Amino acid sequence: MPGRIIIITTADVIVVGGGVIGVCSAYYLAKSGRSVILLEQGEIASGCSYGNACLITPSHAVPLPAPGVIRQALKWMLKEDSPLLIRARLDFQLLRWLLQFAQNCRPEAMMRGIPILRDLCRASLALYEELVRTENLEFYFERRGALYVSSTDAGFEKSKREAELLAGYGFDSRILGGRNAHELEPAVLETVKGAVYYPEDAHGDSHFFVTGLGRLLPKYGVTIRTNTRALGLLPADGDRIAVNTDQGVFQCKDLLLAAGSWLPGLTRAFGVSLPIQPGKGYSVTISKPEGAPKIPVAHQERRVFVTPLGDRLRFAGTMEFAGMDLRMNNTRAQAALRGGREILLPFGEPRNIEYWCGLRPCTPDGIPVIGRIPRHPNVYVAAGHAMLGFTMGPITGKLASEMITGAPLSLAMGALSPGRFL
Ligand SMILES: Cc1cc2nc3c(=O)[nH]c(=O)nc-3n(C[C@H](O)[C@H](O)[C@H](O)COP(=O)(O)OP(=O)(O)OC[C@H]3O[C@@H](n4cnc5c(N)ncnc54)[C@H](O)[C@@H]3O)c2cc1C
Repeated sequence: MPGRIIIITTADVIVVGGGVIGVCSAYYLAKSGRSVILLEQGEIASGCSYGNACLITPSHAVPLPAPGVIRQALKWMLKEDSPLLIRARLDFQLLRWLLQFAQNCRPEAMMRGIPILRDLCRASLALYEELVRTENLEFYFERRGALYVSSTDAGFEKSKREAELLAGYGFDSRILGGRNAHELEPAVLETVKGAVYYPEDAHGDSHFFVTGLGRLLPKYGVTIRTNTRALGLLPADGDRIAVNTDQGVFQCKDLLLAAGSWLPGLTRAFGVSLPIQPGKGYSVTISKPEGAPKIPVAHQERRVFVTPLGDRLRFAGTMEFAGMDLRMNNTRAQAALRGGREILLPFGEPRNIEYWCGLRPCTPDGIPVIGRIPRHPNVYVAAGHAMLGFTMGPITGKLASEMITGAPLSLAMGALSPGRFL
């Protein structure tokens, strides 16, 4: 019959997006007794959760918009291998986002953001420890801290100022000269200018974590539909929501959109324009060479992280605002590898190289957007975690579950509301 909608499956909640945020949300929703369908257009963890730097890092609590960032970005504008690149183009959404971003580069805005990110990251790290204990997840999770290494005097001064700022928010750190940095992590060159060590941080393989948790979901009753792309909404009965996909129609009472950088395309169906821009980053993963670092190290000036992951070593970083463009740019990928190697003892030709790029979902204030969409009482979003999505995955999933089920909230969520942009 023309026009008749065939509903394939019904559940209490549909989660759109099988990245770290969607998978963690499905997990906590299912644990609270809700029936859940998870829709993913590709495979689980095939978005930005695949090849990131894998740090679980409360010490990264300074939001992306911060004093000096715009000036620095303008200086780097035409440099193809720069750590931060904005590809200027006539795009109203990008221009609006950049204006909002510039406003959030004021010191007051940055300082408002730090405790919000700190509390989310710390709560999430505690949940990671709980998940490792209770679910037996194996993803090379370790708590060895993170070492932010500077190769220039100016960079070291900046790092020390940041450590001082973070100390005001309760972050412990150790300032080390080049020799002490080398003693702590022998893979780091003794000749670097200095380093700041944050002992609180952890790391683990993001892809293994998300796919590992994903594999547990059916055990808790979650239906996972991969290669299923949410296209929009259709009229449904009563208080039900019908999600139209390229594989048929699914129905639910509550809908959670956890689609990372793809989120604005989905919320437009509700007349809601959320300012999320994709911040493209690269990683290069190689077989772990002799003498590789055991502690994750960052080359501050190059904005590149080097993370040990089992028998592999990953170089990841750089940020590029170029729209939804997942094409590989060799110059930028090589910049990540080179930038990491600059602070490490030489280790010969890299073996078994895997190149990757992904799109970080970035809000203009550097704070994720988690909450109910105005005027749509049963539609929620959870995205915009920028450089901290892996870190904040579990707490975001838990908060998403709490707000949907009406359970007491683990953390105040006022500052995360989508309403702040609308
Ligand atoms: C180079 C790099 C390094 C990083 N390092 C770190 C780090 O060290 N620590 C950290 O905490 N974070 C890091 N991040 C950031 C982190 O990877 C992201 O913040 C996080 O992965 C975002 O998770 P997400 O679930 O919101 O989005 P994603 O992982 O992108 O997942 C969104 C999913 O939604 C799916 N989807 C989209 N639209 C639809 C649709 N219509 N229907 C069905 N499915 C859909 C996509 O296919 C995708 O799988 C890094 C990112 C990059 C690029």
